[in-house]
Amino acid sequence: MKSNSKLNRVLIVGGTHGNEFTGAYLIKKFQQFPELIRRESFKTLTLFANPKAFTEVRRYISRDLNHCFSRLDLQDTTLSCYEDLRAKEIDQMFGYNSENPIDFIFDVHSTTTKMGLTLIVDNDDLFSLQLAAYLSYINSEIKVYSFGDLYPSPNLLPLRALAKSSICIEVGAIAQGVLNAEIFLKTEALVFAILDYLEKYNIGEIQSKQNTLILYKYIEAVYFPRNEHGEIQAMIHPQLEFKDYQALYPNDPMLLTLDGQTICYKGDSIVYPTFINEAAYYEKGIAMCLTQKHQITI
Ligand SMILES: [Zn+2]
Repeated sequence: MKSNSKLNRVLIVGGTHGNEFTGAYLIKKFQQFPELIRRESFKTLTLFANPKAFTEVRRYISRDLNHCFSRLDLQDTTLSCYEDLRAKEIDQMFGYNSENPIDFIFDVHSTTTKMGLTLIVDNDDLFSLQLAAYLSYINSEIKVYSFGDLYPSPNLLPLRALAKSSICIEVGAIAQGVLNAEIFLKTEALVFAILDYLEKYNIGEIQSKQNTLILYKYIEAVYFPRNEHGEIQAMIHPQLEFKDYQALYPNDPMLLTLDGQTICYKGDSIVYPTFINEAAYYEKGIAMCLTQKHQITI
């Protein structure tokens, strides 16, 4: 997004993954009490993204909705599973060519990992980086994560790609299909902080010129070892469980195999694991994602 261009429409999304109840119920609450998210200088819209998956308490019905937003897929009329159709509908409501194109999206997710309050940003989105720098400055609990240039893959774009600028909130640890009041309230407070920032931005009142940021950049996923039937043969090592964002040194334990062997980290530099034991990643066989910690200047 160009600096100094005013935001007109902001979209808050929840329930992109149907079993992530924090975001889903936040949207239900905001739809019931719209005055909570109303701000003077822009219009706040809400989207309950995957209602069918929510009803079935599943991440998705046929395909991860958060991978359905490449232009190629949105224009492909042969793609017709529930999520493909839903993505096309959402694009028609809020996409670039819709009557209500969105200037800023934030999509609220939750995680079974102990990632606390995490903001996921894109490296080339200066506006979101500035927002993340500001939020992590006013709340030291907030961590900022980026998939770097490795993700999103051009073929599997997330919902938030519909707007010029966007941020994704990940909160945890919380089980799938469960609400937790403390996490709910923290997430809600973060949503309000973002709306207040956007309001201040619009009226030219961003006081903090916070321009440095600790960014955890994705480098690679660590997969569980499998047997010849494709079955997982290890679990997260007990010493690493719930240690998201903590330094992992060469030769530190990572995984414990079913036959009792410890698998250690074999890299030669310190990394910071995230998404350690994410339930949603078992279907891909991913045990965790490794990141590097950078201090960046925006
Ligand atoms: Zn999610």
